[in-house]
Amino acid sequence: WLAVAGAARTVLLAAPRSFCAGVERAIEVVEQVLQQRGGPVYVRKQIVHNTRVVAGLEARGAVFVDELDEVPEGAAVVFSAHGVSPQVHRQAAERGLHVVDAACPLVTKVHTEARRFASRGDTVVLIGHGGHEEVEGTLGQAPARTVLVEAPEDVAALEVADPERVAYLTQTTLAVDETAEVVDALRARFPSLRGPASDDICYATTNRQDALAAIAGESDVVLVVGSANSSNSVRLVELAQRRGVPAHLVDDTGEIRPEWLAGVRTVGLTAGASAPPGLVEEVVAALGGLGPVTVHEREVTRETVHFALPSAARRS
Ligand code: SF4
Repeated sequence: WLAVAGAARTVLLAAPRSFCAGVERAIEVVEQVLQQRGGPVYVRKQIVHNTRVVAGLEARGAVFVDELDEVPEGAAVVFSAHGVSPQVHRQAAERGLHVVDAACPLVTKVHTEARRFASRGDTVVLIGHGGHEEVEGTLGQAPARTVLVEAPEDVAALEVADPERVAYLTQTTLAVDETAEVVDALRARFPSLRGPASDDICYATTNRQDALAAIAGESDVVLVVGSANSSNSVRLVELAQRRGVPAHLVDDTGEIRPEWLAGVRTVGLTAGASAPPGLVEEVVAALGGLGPVTVHEREVTRETVHFALPSAARRS
């Protein structure tokens, strides 16, 4: 640390950054259910993909499980912001669980589109990352009619029942530019390709990518606050790297490595949609501990989106 301490630095803060409306809502759902029922309240999968958020809720009585067979019959269970397949809802009903679904409304919108496209006879091509919880939930809406593609190279190998009846959907947290390449490849192979009425990549993902793009060129290094399993956070790191800027994902200040800051005058700083704003302040404070720091915020747009809580989690 001695080699990088003492130098004056500028921190360029990207805005918007950090929590989106879907994440704020999901966390509030768990807090409300804890307040209404007391602990333990079971949560299937991480409520949002952030280590700090999960640890904070655990300390207050939330119990995170991977699958519903770990939840005692009749208990309350919250489903995460990433959404679940209908099969998970059926399994919860069979076990008599009290379900509160914290799926982001923008993920639920994609689920509705998947069922609508499939019911009119389309093969649904879902663009996304295999194994991610959101992708599993969306694939499960119409499993017999949905196929997954991850990259343009996958398009050539797709097998569809009728090339005239193909529709695409996307995971909500993908890179906007990379996704456009996959859609172009699909459209080249299936000229009658249909898609969602409005983009499935959500406003929060798009805004965080635009905000980072606006500061990346002026940054010597980019730090993205977020956890390794947070899709939109990882996409931000990749966006900066594609523009030739060294970029690192940090779950908390302990992960900042001194060599990243050697010779660095300007640090670009942002946070994925699941990372709490307080963690960004901690990173700024940690950088301030290494020498004088001037912070400039660059806001590309102001977010006013807010989602109402599901009725099962509303304050009475
Ligand atoms: Fe919803 Fe987008 Fe936030 Fe995911 S990143 S929870 S889709 S608003």
